[in-house]
Amino acid sequence: MVSTKKSEIRLQGINVSPGICIGKAYLVGKEGVEVVDKYFISKDNLQTEIKRFKSAVKRAKDKLQEIIETTPEELRQHIHILETHKVLYKDKMLYGKTVETIEKELVNAEWALKKVVSNVKNMFRNMPDPYLQGRMSDIVHVSESIMQNLVGAKTLDIGAIGKRVILVAADLSPAETSQIQLEKIKGLITDLGGKTSHTGIIARSLEIPAVLGLEKATLLIKNDDIIIVDGTAGIVIVHPTDKTLIQFEERQSNYERHKAVITRSSHLPAKTTDGIKLEVMGNIELPEEVVSVINYGGDGIGLYRTEFQYLSLSGFPDEHDLFDNYKDVVEVMAPNPVTIRTLDISGDKAVSYASNSDEKNPVLGLRGIRYCLKNPDVFKTQLRALLRASAYGPVRILLPMISCHDEVLAAKKILNKAADSLDKEDILFNDNIKIGIMIEVPSAAIMADVMAKDVDFFSIGTNDLIQYSLAVDRVNRQVAHLYQPLNPAIIRLIKYVADIAKNNDVEVCMCGEMAGDPVNIPILLGLE
Ligand code: PEP
Ligand code: MG
Repeated sequence: MVSTKKSEIRLQGINVSPGICIGKAYLVGKEGVEVVDKYFISKDNLQTEIKRFKSAVKRAKDKLQEIIETTPEELRQHIHILETHKVLYKDKMLYGKTVETIEKELVNAEWALKKVVSNVKNMFRNMPDPYLQGRMSDIVHVSESIMQNLVGAKTLDIGAIGKRVILVAADLSPAETSQIQLEKIKGLITDLGGKTSHTGIIARSLEIPAVLGLEKATLLIKNDDIIIVDGTAGIVIVHPTDKTLIQFEERQSNYERHKAVITRSSHLPAKTTDGIKLEVMGNIELPEEVVSVINYGGDGIGLYRTEFQYLSLSGFPDEHDLFDNYKDVVEVMAPNPVTIRTLDISGDKAVSYASNSDEKNPVLGLRGIRYCLKNPDVFKTQLRALLRASAYGPVRILLPMISCHDEVLAAKKILNKAADSLDKEDILFNDNIKIGIMIEVPSAAIMADVMAKDVDFFSIGTNDLIQYSLAVDRVNRQVAHLYQPLNPAIIRLIKYVADIAKNNDVEVCMCGEMAGDPVNIPILLGLE
């Protein structure tokens, strides 16, 4: 007898939004956009062709505006992502270059757009940073929507899906993701994208399981295939066997039960059974993530990674934009504290317009505070914005990548200059703002007693502290087994820093991922 049962396939992707869902696959395609013809136009038709391109841009932009206006309440906090896309429609790199290509090469608009986007992709391809990859995908999403309008392809209408399904796509734009209605979509998986992609961020706010970066999901999965998405482990199982199904149904109900318990208890104070109270704060990369920190009972923002705002632009943000952004977060969190970390760009988070591309070892290069001290104007602009935000609620400044005492002194000097300049302009700020340093480089841990004299708090950044202490690249899968938060060397370093903090009356907190894994908590508490 021949079995018609298809064999089970397991795919490993990036765990972007936790939870488990089981259901039928619904493939969403972008037909008509992939294959584009090239043809030449005559000089006489040049203006008509440019006009055709411009009106396709306008239609795409109008459609986006419509999506913005009809975005459901639970996703309204992400509108700014769509607003960013609106700006990209007129981006020089995309809009300007496409018009220029039509003019110079006398080719059709579709071909010109395709050429421009492929150049942008090549430019970004060599930058390993996930944030930058995310920005590239923003440009691709925007260009696809223009292309759809140019070729007259049907646009993807996720809102019109009529059954409870799991979305399977090569990629989903934030505009598409924000049309998701929770009662219809159980989860989503894509070939592209990663943790910091906007689609990933939206999936997390919707609290639907999502696995991205699967590479071949759309090739292997057909419509109506039964699939399991484990967004916690980053696994997708296609054609699961009965045994696997039972196993994952059980995991799903355990997860739901666990989540319900956590949600119920998240507003209770974090206290040990012997009465020691801990402050549990959230890490954020975007202002809108503040909502979930509040919803889950966070005592404040323990780490606001400010790089994101710089990485999503094509030039340095100005003081006003930075201030607006920080003020939003501070006002929403007040009276709870917001710890704003100064720019930690360069290294692996390369910013195209601040590039230093000839670094052989960027992670050991001009990153974090080193970059800021070398570019005092960029630093001072951020510090002014940060100080101004401190007039609206408790702000703490956190300096990243400190590796020696001199860096602390130099940073404080620039901070004082920023404060003086605000003073002269009669601009309000908190002149007693708390200043802390990341302990994420082993030399900073070892010299913590010297550093303690000049700071109000330490924040232990275990993500990098583990990387630098154990000589294990934090993003290299080959050595992932050596990346051990509980390695005795790490525990000793943490204990050393905690003791110094206590003896010097300096507050100590931990902002690395290690603090977010419950397994580590008893050990960390024991070091206190
Ligand atoms: C760290 O290194 O632990 C940290 C919190 O910073 P990042 O992950 O942004 O490097
Ligand atoms: Mg770090």
